[in-house]
Amino acid sequence: MTLAAAPSPSVRVRAPGKVNLSLRVGPVEEDGYHPLVTVFQAVALVEEVTATEVADGAGISVTVEGPQADRVPLDATNLAWRAAELLAEHVGISPDVALHLAKGVPVAGGMAGGSADAAATLVACDALWGTGLSRGELSTLAAVLGSDVPFALLGHTAVGTGRGHLLTPAMSRGEFHWAFATRDEGLSTPAVYRRFDELCGPTAPPVDVVDDNALMQALRAGDPSALGAALHNDLEPAALDLRPELERTLEIARNGGALGAMVSGSGPTVAALARSRQHALAIAATWTAEDAADSVWCTTAPAAGARVL
Ligand code: ATP
Repeated sequence: MTLAAAPSPSVRVRAPGKVNLSLRVGPVEEDGYHPLVTVFQAVALVEEVTATEVADGAGISVTVEGPQADRVPLDATNLAWRAAELLAEHVGISPDVALHLAKGVPVAGGMAGGSADAAATLVACDALWGTGLSRGELSTLAAVLGSDVPFALLGHTAVGTGRGHLLTPAMSRGEFHWAFATRDEGLSTPAVYRRFDELCGPTAPPVDVVDDNALMQALRAGDPSALGAALHNDLEPAALDLRPELERTLEIARNGGALGAMVSGSGPTVAALARSRQHALAIAATWTAEDAADSVWCTTAPAAGARVL
């Protein structure tokens, strides 16, 4: 009798994409960065990362599945790869792991899919390697990988300051329904910030959490109409200036009764807040029918942060 080889141990972790319900951008600082005040909400479009044990010295490998898998790098520039490498370096072990990413967040859509992969990889490798870091320690490593990575660890709803990486959890009641219109041709985040600087220059006012009182109240009350009215994105004028065709996508959502519609983060994704799942599906169907999006996605928010399945 031959015995089948035991499968290699593996850990599967899910982490969410995000929408910036409010994104306030201050004037550029000497180091080239912009101070932010943003309200993040995690969405139920999720990434799943499976980390599987490999032989000592085998190194890191990345494989990807999902509708836009061909747009994701498989080398050391992948954020998941970098996350595994950083954790191994931090605890002083050899980075040996096979990472498989099942992508559910649109790629290069300003919804932080790569950041979710990085957060999920930190949690998965921590469990697989038994490194036993606290959430706080993982969050510190996450901030090294990118300013959206700590939020993908935390999930739910949070106010982000600094570069968006200093997080304070916020209360949000109930469930909100979203439709997203994505474009195949991305919009470079640095290019949008450069255009923001040209449009606002040093006259951009300093940012303050107090500006989002109405939004925070809408979240606490679970009131989608009030939330729709309070959505805000300082980068929208710059994104629209670079990609004027996004105006029509916004207009279609508004004509379809969206409670609020905005460019998501630095774009080119457009986000529309709907009254219900059916309403979100109807907005998405109109975008498709009017050729105002390359792909459409409907989901709910908030969603949990990175967790082992
Ligand atoms: P950001 O707004 O942080 O620039 P995003 O949320 O718009 O990013 P992502 O899907 O995270 O978009 O990826 C942006 C780019 O980063 C991709 O075009 C790709 O080349 C590269 N990238 C690196 N790692 C990943 C990953 N794990 N998943 C997707 N893209 C990745």
